[in-house]
Amino acid sequence: IIQINHLKKSFGALKVLNDVEFHCDSGEVITIIGSSGSGKSTLLRCINLLETPDGGEILYHGKDILKGEINLNTHRSKVGMVFQSFNLFNNKTVLENCMIGQIKVLKRSKEEAKEKAMYYLRKVGMEAFANSSSIQLSGGQKQRVAIARALCMDPEVLLFDEPTSALDPEMVGDVLDVMKQLAEEGLTMIVVTHEMQFAHDISSRVIFMDKGIIAEQGTPQQIFENPQQERTKEFLQRYR
Ligand code: ATP
Ligand code: MG
Repeated sequence: IIQINHLKKSFGALKVLNDVEFHCDSGEVITIIGSSGSGKSTLLRCINLLETPDGGEILYHGKDILKGEINLNTHRSKVGMVFQSFNLFNNKTVLENCMIGQIKVLKRSKEEAKEKAMYYLRKVGMEAFANSSSIQLSGGQKQRVAIARALCMDPEVLLFDEPTSALDPEMVGDVLDVMKQLAEEGLTMIVVTHEMQFAHDISSRVIFMDKGIIAEQGTPQQIFENPQQERTKEFLQRYR
């Protein structure tokens, strides 16, 4: 569904992505791990076109999204993103947050948008908060609403950038449980995370990034139980 070839991105003299190549098939759950500054967020942001790469290709269904005309809003509904910082509209209710993109981008009717929103709010266990103001929610609740909001757009792929890093420890489990359920239901997901047990349990493939390159990738068993590269071993040591 996504194929990335020779992707390059620098900020000034800093090469943040240096010839990154990988693919993601439909139904895969890929987790990306790696040290701070290794380029994980930048990679996701490029796939979502929040950053413009300096070179390479990002093929989505075989078509290079870096070339030609591409509707950003449409692309971001198909390839949705969930951020560490939730990015909800604080002056809107939970339900409104889940409806607005459907109405503006997908041109759904209010009724249809509401029905879809309630369906996904139920799925993430936030149905009872539909009419609450977003600002009143805890971090874990906000993140579950952000996931419901992304799902309302019928994405083909969901990108998650450290969705639990900003949460109090007691909230982390709720969000990971929702993500686990989505993975089991076959949603295609690319997840940047520092939750190694979670990555081990849900991934079809794990990618280890180091200094702007994919240093190693493989099944969770290969990466966590039998890493080949010295730098992968060193990185994983910190989580033991
Ligand atoms: P973390 O685990 O801390 O989230 P990361 O792997 O997600 O790290 P990135 O956010 O992709 O790393 O950043 C890679 C490098 O690029 C970092 O050194 C960062 O400071 C730099 N960087 C990221 N965005 C920008 C920007 N907009 N302008 C300048 N430098 C940036
Ligand atoms: Mg990051």
